[in-house]
Amino acid sequence: MTTIAQALAQAQAAGLARIDAQMLLLHALGRATHDRAWLLTHDGDALTGEPLARWQALCARRAAGEPVAYLTGHKEFYGLALQVDARVLDPRPDTETLVEWALEVLAPCPAPRVADLGTGSGAIALALQQQHPDAQVLAVDASAEALAVARANAQRLGLAVQCVRGDWLAGLAGPFDAIVSNPPYIPAQDPHLAALTHEPLSALASGADGLDDIRTIVAQAPARLAPGGWLLLEHGWDQAEAVQALLRAAGFAQVQGRRDLAGMVRCSGGSLPAGHQ
Ligand code: GLN
Repeated sequence: MTTIAQALAQAQAAGLARIDAQMLLLHALGRATHDRAWLLTHDGDALTGEPLARWQALCARRAAGEPVAYLTGHKEFYGLALQVDARVLDPRPDTETLVEWALEVLAPCPAPRVADLGTGSGAIALALQQQHPDAQVLAVDASAEALAVARANAQRLGLAVQCVRGDWLAGLAGPFDAIVSNPPYIPAQDPHLAALTHEPLSALASGADGLDDIRTIVAQAPARLAPGGWLLLEHGWDQAEAVQALLRAAGFAQVQGRRDLAGMVRCSGGSLPAGHQ
């Protein structure tokens, strides 16, 4: 007989992270994945039959690199319970840095207009809408499949985010008080991509230096921002200097960065000076 404690120990011995093993076991047992206290109080219970088989299958898929969020179908982002699957990027906690920054720049605006470009699961747009109920938030994605995920999340969470299909800012008029994006930014040949094969490549990679989509967004944004409006972008840990140079060259002022949970400058942004041509 295998107990819950033994099953978890075996999974960890096989290389799974403790938190991953716990979340997958809770999911296999039909319990909420945050209910880790339950596992502690039931660690002597037997794990048999269907739940055991489900759990073993989930562990095998996790060991092959599938994100836990795809296996459980859920991800918590900025306090929101999102549904996610392989149609969208698995939202990262680092991206909460971008949400926090956007909320700061939007704080003085009573009913701001905001665009989230490449919304994926809708994570950023939905977090902003929830925190700033008077905002008019547009969630844009080129992928119809991703938009279906974002729309379903908006509906389930009762948040009035408007989801539209589009190629970054093409076809959008604005003016926006803030444009935010976590675009793809990994260089196409980056070996790091090999560990991310379960996520959509179109959400991850962007040209030889990873900056193709950021260049497009920076070029399109000034014409769609209100005077004093902000463009805030997530980027790779080593791209801050390049992104900030692009922002300055496009006429942005107050160009600066924000650090992620690991202390890397993960987001850069700037504001559009009044009277910008
Ligand atoms: N931060 C993610 C990673 O490096 C990539 C997300 C993105 O490309 N926007 O794993």
